[in-house]
Formats: sequence, structure tokens, C-alpha cells
Amino acid sequence: MNDKLSNLLKQADIVFRENFASEAWFGRCIFLSWYCDLGTCTFCFRSTTKHKIKHSSMARRSMASILTDAVLGKYLGWKIEFLTGGYKIFSFEEIVEIAKYVSEIYEEKIWVNLGVLTNEELEQLSPYVEGVCASIETVNLELHKKVCPDKDIAPYVDFLKRAKNFKKSMTMIIGLGETKDDVELLFDFIEENNLDQITFYALKPVRETPFTVSPDPEYYAWWIAKTRIRFPKLKIMCGLTPKNPNYTELLLKAGANSITKFPALKQFGSDNAKLIESMAKKANKKFLGSLTKVPNVNWDEEIDKLSFDKELKEEVKVKIHQYLKKMS
Ligand code: SF4
Repeated sequence: MNDKLSNLLKQADIVFRENFASEAWFGRCIFLSWYCDLGTCTFCFRSTTKHKIKHSSMARRSMASILTDAVLGKYLGWKIEFLTGGYKIFSFEEIVEIAKYVSEIYEEKIWVNLGVLTNEELEQLSPYVEGVCASIETVNLELHKKVCPDKDIAPYVDFLKRAKNFKKSMTMIIGLGETKDDVELLFDFIEENNLDQITFYALKPVRETPFTVSPDPEYYAWWIAKTRIRFPKLKIMCGLTPKNPNYTELLLKAGANSITKFPALKQFGSDNAKLIESMAKKANKKFLGSLTKVPNVNWDEEIDKLSFDKELKEEVKVKIHQYLKKMS
């Protein structure tokens, strides 16, 4: 690492420690479906033919499977980054019901990333949702037109303005073709839209798309450190690429609060999961929750306490035990 980056990380770490406890955690996205009816962003696996064929007929996840994710996540100490992916796949009434149940499981309001919502939809979600995320992906407008040809930024900006009673967040993918000069555009966007949170992702090249390389971890960390220094109180989440989580320490030292985009159930207890936990320690942060140890919980008893109907609870119990078996 060159001296410049090393100094930047030191400065970011100082700012972090002045504003947050020395903690890090895993933030989990709960996907409502694996399908996107837009499917034209050029970097996204949902734009590939293979994905469309495989998933168009089985787009929806079952309610029991979604709620099982939430129950497991709660007791493993994972925070919900947001509910995402079900817009136009589920009816809005169903989405509100899912948000209500997940918020009941977590005993707190949650975040959603469901595209541009109307004022009426925001109102319906408000008892269960504290924050909304706009999937901006990149703030360079020229680049945005190329990589997200059918997802204009303007409706998202309008949405963020209308979501006055909610906390607000955006997503930003590093490695799409932006340059360091674009950092000021990002800062303007965060400031103008009064954001409380941001999720950075490192581009993961997907076969059948024009992208072939992930950004260098140090370049990725540079964006995080710059953002941390400029916005000391902003919550910063960082996506990992599961094949190579060995730069977790770097991201946490750059001032990230949490890591995300790790297949935590699939890789529960794996060497990668252990590596992430040990890297939090190396970055001098206590890792909240666990990616490696199942807590001692009477799962059936906890599920029985929830207000869902009996049939749904029984389905969740069956699924939880299936997941736990796989995880052990
Ligand atoms: S990036 Fe989002 S909107 Fe674009 S194709 Fe992928 S899932 Fe759909």
C-alpha cells in the first residue's frame, strides 16, 4: 500500500472512532425474488439470458422462506440492510405484509430498497419501515446512461425528496468505469439528498456482460475512506465478493460500519466466514453477531411467539430446521 493511501486510511479510522463505537457487523439483504422486470443494467446478472430463462418462471420466494431468513438473521445478530427485489413481482399489499412481519421479527422498523415508491406506498410502509434506499449505482450521469439505460436517476432523486419522513440511503458500485474525479459528484449527491447511509459494492464481473474485472481493493477502499472523512456520521456498508473476502480488514479500516453481500447462510462457518470475523478483529472492531456459530435458541418457541397464522408458523419451523441442518 502506498503512503498516501495508508495516511488516508489512518485519517478515516480516526474519524470513524470519533463518531462510532469500535464495532462492525454483517448487514443482510433479504431478497423477495431473484427476478427483475427491468433486467437491462449492463453489469447485472439479471440482464443475462441464462438468468432470465432460469428465473422468470420461479420469480417469487415463498413467504415462509423470506421469514425464515429474517428469524435466522435476527438470532445470528445480523442486521437487515434492506428488503429488496420484489417490486412488481409481489402485489404492494403483499410487500407491506412482508415488511410488517419482518419488522415484527426484528422488533424494529426496517429498511427497503424497492425502486421508486409513490407517496401512498410510502405511507402504507411507514408503520414498519424507517429507511428507503435508492439504487443509484453510479453518480456519473454519462456513465449512468450507459450502464443503467432504463433506470433514470431523476425519478430516484424525486423519490428521495418525497420520502421526507424516512431515513435515506443509496447504492454505489465501484468499478463500473467511474474515476476518482467523480468523488465530488458522490459527495454532492449525498449532501443534496440528505443521506443517512450508503452501500458501496465492488463490481463483480458477471459472465455474458461486458465487464471482466473487479476493482482493485485499494481503489475500493479509497472511495470508502474519502467518504468516511467527508461524512463522519454517515453509515457506510460495503459489499464483499464472496470468492475473496480477504480485504475485509482494509474496508473496515477505511471507515466502513458493516459488510454485506456475503452469502452468509451458504458459507456459514466456512473458512471465508471465519476470515471475515478474524479480519474485523484485526481492524480493531468487535464483530457483532456471528457468521460461524449458531446460538442456542429454542427456535420453535421463538416462532410460536410471533403473530402469524399457525400454518405459516409451521412452514417457517420446517424451513428453519432445514437451514440449520445445512448450516451445521
Ligand atoms: S441492477 Fe437492479 S434494476 Fe438493474 S437489472 Fe439489476 S436488479 Fe434490475
